[in-house]
Amino acid sequence: MMQPAATHEGHEAQWSAALHAAGRRVTRQRLAVLAAIDRLPHATADDAAAAVRAGLPQITVQSVYVVLADLTDLGLLRRVETPHSPARYETRVGDNHHHAVCTGCGRIEDVDCAVGHAPCLTPEWSPGARRMTIQIAEVVYQGLCDDCRAAVPSHQPATPQE
Ligand SMILES: [Zn+2]
Ligand SMILES: [Zn+2]
Repeated sequence: MMQPAATHEGHEAQWSAALHAAGRRVTRQRLAVLAAIDRLPHATADDAAAAVRAGLPQITVQSVYVVLADLTDLGLLRRVETPHSPARYETRVGDNHHHAVCTGCGRIEDVDCAVGHAPCLTPEWSPGARRMTIQIAEVVYQGLCDDCRAAVPSHQPATPQE
């Protein structure tokens, strides 16, 4: 048999198995939160709450927050901290990918890797630091997306004043 394609049902089976393995009940609420974040990668908690409540109006915003935190603790979701933004959530976990954030509009994109293997960055330890075995390096690149770069005159080539 072929591997199931990345359909909604395929994800739901994986999420259910992971919830079982973590000793959690498989509830509509938990599956709805996972499905919402899967549809909206890098959603904020408020984005997630709005998306989940569109399908499950009886769930409160507070409950969505609690489920997000729990699923993050379980490793089913990854919480991403980016500058000048509330935390974002995604279902792409465990692959040590990085993020690039546009400082103009806040758009966020995945960056697979910087060097081709985790943890991507080799630390240059400060003198006197107690070295650690590094497992994860999380990088936030900051720059301007094409849309924002086009809108910022100072980033256009300067024209001579003659
Ligand atoms: Zn931008
Ligand atoms: Zn990501």
